Amino acid sequence: MALIVHKYGGTSMGSTERIRNVAKRVAKWARAGHRMVVVPSAMSGETNRLLGLAKELAPAKPTTPYNRELDMLAATGEQASSALLAIALQSEGVEAVSYTGWQMGVQTDSSYTKARIERIDDERVRADLDAGRVVVVTGFQGVDELGNITTLGRGGSDTSAVAIAAAMKADECLIYTDVDGVYTTDPRVEPDARRLAKISFEEMLEMASLGSKVLQIRSVEFAGKYRVPLRVLSSFTPWDIDINEEAVSGTLITFEEDETMEQAVVSGIAFSRDEAKISVLGVPDKPGIAYHILGAVADANIEVDVIIQNLSKDGKTDFSFTVNRAEFARTVDLLKTKVLPTLGAADIVGDTKICKVSIVGIGMRSHVGVASKMFRVLSEEGINIQMISTSEIKTSVVIDEKYMELAVRALHKAFDLDQPAN
Ligand code: ADP
Ligand code: ASP
Ligand code: MG
Repeated sequence: MALIVHKYGGTSMGSTERIRNVAKRVAKWARAGHRMVVVPSAMSGETNRLLGLAKELAPAKPTTPYNRELDMLAATGEQASSALLAIALQSEGVEAVSYTGWQMGVQTDSSYTKARIERIDDERVRADLDAGRVVVVTGFQGVDELGNITTLGRGGSDTSAVAIAAAMKADECLIYTDVDGVYTTDPRVEPDARRLAKISFEEMLEMASLGSKVLQIRSVEFAGKYRVPLRVLSSFTPWDIDINEEAVSGTLITFEEDETMEQAVVSGIAFSRDEAKISVLGVPDKPGIAYHILGAVADANIEVDVIIQNLSKDGKTDFSFTVNRAEFARTVDLLKTKVLPTLGAADIVGDTKICKVSIVGIGMRSHVGVASKMFRVLSEEGINIQMISTSEIKTSVVIDEKYMELAVRALHKAFDLDQPAN
């Protein structure tokens, strides 16, 4: 009798009919003798709808009182879907109970809209499981030590599910979504993308951090830290498919390389439109400049991604970096008011119409020439590379947003990702 955590995303919970389908699937697992904890997202579109209402009343302000209320609001989406799922389970004849993050004891820090889970108290859930109930726990939300409701960032229900699986030492965490696994790239952009039967934890971590929204990055971090067996699979298969067949479908996130893993040099392509580029022009080229600029940005809690500094000419240089697009205006404002006056730089220019495209693969560790092949492919398509960043298992380029899909498709083909690897 295994302890299994299921997570169902917004599309999978998107209507009462789909919720009934989820309930039937969960009931099947419970009847097969498993102890079941289920973590649903809000019904699709609901979180956007709620946040849209807030925006109508007040434009987004990155302030604590405002963000506290955003979390109060957004958390209701998951509360509703959890209760609906528990009701659907009961009508399938399964004993079920739903809990919010605070009832369950999902303790987080107080960073509203992007809180981090610190502790999970699973006593109440264990008691229910012992009593033979299926437990439904809201995704996406927690509570800080003062009792304020917090949320975990967009896509955060993945993290709730994996964190609960880690805390409860679940035998497996199954992330049910609207695709049947992790693909070589987003199948919405490249129809020839292929599902991977397995992907290494490190590659999944890079893919998620570089923009593949199929799993929220923190869920992958939790899975790595606590070695949670994690699988991404479809909620759109018939609910009554054979449970053994279902249990091995989708994509398994693996922690050790094994001989059955695909041996491709590049395993996947990730992309992100959430980027904006800022260049500080005519900066005096002397020690401490990077710290002067980026220190101020970090102090404002703004995350910087790709950074380049150009060659200096006449003692002056240009310094460029990218930030999340949502932080663009705040960063420019900060630089103009706090940094430019003391830096002696000439000007600041920004570009919000950029994107980042990345190739990812642990095979890049042992192969040379992978990045240069990427640059060649992009040059053959006439795509100008504005910035480059590399690590052991990925190369990212910043390019004009309008070439994003072209770049993804060209790279997908050039690295043979549409072909089954040997
Ligand atoms: P959910 O609501 O179930 O959490 P998401 O929309 O957050 O679903 O994530 C699933 C989506 O992720 C897919 O519909 C797909 O468009 C997108 N996606 C991006 N990159 C990938 C990838 N490499 N493999 C599979 N899906 C991906
Ligand atoms: N409902 C939240 C969102 O839309 C969390 C999630 O779906 O994972 O971001
Ligand atoms: Mg998601």
